[in-house]
Amino acid sequence: MSLGIGQGYDVHAFQAGDHVTLGGVRIPHTQGIKAHSDGDVLLHAICVALLGAAALGDIGMHFADTDPQWRGADSRVFLRHVKDVLAQRKFRIVNVDVTVLAEAPKLGKHRETMRTNIAADLDLTIDC
Ligand code: MG
Repeated sequence: MSLGIGQGYDVHAFQAGDHVTLGGVRIPHTQGIKAHSDGDVLLHAICVALLGAAALGDIGMHFADTDPQWRGADSRVFLRHVKDVLAQRKFRIVNVDVTVLAEAPKLGKHRETMRTNIAADLDLTIDC
């Protein structure tokens, strides 16, 4: 049995809009996130970390931003797909930790919904 530890990172630019999606939560904001998918940088960073831990490449190799099927995609689909790819290779996810660097919007009141979404998508209990 091998143990992999991944580190993920993602950045997207803002653009005109009225919300951002983070951790699968639609959060009202004065700007939107520029992205091919729903621009959920938080879930993208988790995907990057999980794929990296298993040496399965970069998120762009799995969800190319040139692929029309991912236009406007719900990033929770990405997260569940990554979970499935890891499971097919007999990896088991045991813990996910995430730090978001953002002055705005304020995220605290959305934290538990994000945790619930992530845990559900990865088949983890929320304390993981
Ligand atoms: Mg991204």
